[in-house]
Amino acid sequence: MKLAQRTALVTGAGSGIGRAIALCFAREGAAVAVNDIRRDRAEAVAQEIRALGRETLTLPADVSDSVEVRAIFEQLTAQWQRLDILVNNAGIVELEPSRQQRLIQAHMERLAGSGAPAPLAISQSITDMEWRRTLAVHLDGTFYCTREALKLMEAQRYGKIINMASVAGLTGLAGAAAYSAAKAGIIGLTKAIAREAIHCGVYVNAIAPGFIDTPMLAEMDAEMKRLIALQAPIGRFGTPEEVAAVALHLASDDSSYTVGQVLSPNGGFYM
Ligand code: NAP
Repeated sequence: MKLAQRTALVTGAGSGIGRAIALCFAREGAAVAVNDIRRDRAEAVAQEIRALGRETLTLPADVSDSVEVRAIFEQLTAQWQRLDILVNNAGIVELEPSRQQRLIQAHMERLAGSGAPAPLAISQSITDMEWRRTLAVHLDGTFYCTREALKLMEAQRYGKIINMASVAGLTGLAGAAAYSAAKAGIIGLTKAIAREAIHCGVYVNAIAPGFIDTPMLAEMDAEMKRLIALQAPIGRFGTPEEVAAVALHLASDDSSYTVGQVLSPNGGFYM
């Protein structure tokens, strides 16, 4: 087992990629604390971890709220005294149907070579609230959890911080300006903190998945999914388990020379 005796916290672990990572780490021997904004979901995954015979904690909180984040770290420290692995995974996405339709239509018009394209009018319609919430959950949330984790990890002279970015942060995605900006911000944050924290044996890296089949994309138009899958040479979406395998590599001592990197399981969508 690659994570025996380790303690981990995974944010947004009540669903999708976070859940797969939490269960993968538990199978590899770690005690895993489960954060999610939804208490019932966090509790359900904690139950699955217990069934694997591992210790767990349920830590519901909104990661975009620094007071709530401090409180869950206090709870974790009181129970376990140390934290070896943090996965900053919690995230949201805006999949407004009419925006998706406009993107599909524009794509079809380009393929058909027909006339002057109509304005997409997507980024100009992003509200202040949508922009701020997206940045708050992804970028503030990653920073707040990292700040608390560093207090423990630098003192214990060991740690692994894994930040969930996205191909959106590497290449930019049409129709997802706030999300792409937040994920690019996470990549910058990863690199800056990686340079500081490695002095104390704390490794900071990011994962930038391509399109992964999770509840986050349940609202995505089927035609949009088909167009996206065709853009990846592998011809399909990834699975949460395929991302968890990359997280396990970064969480374990197999990645002992990997600092400030962005690993991108994306089926060739972005090279
Ligand atoms: P998911 O299935 O929706 O899981 C994300 C979980 O995080 C949900 O349970 C969600 O609750 C929770 N959450 C949302 N806001 C939170 C907050 N403020 N505090 C704590 N928990 C919160 O999504 P996923 O696809 O597994 O995505 C996980 C991460 O991977 C995200 O950072 C996402 O951006 C990233 N990612 C996903 C893909 C993909 O194609 N799926 C690709 C690249 C990167 P609610 O459901 O109530 O919001």
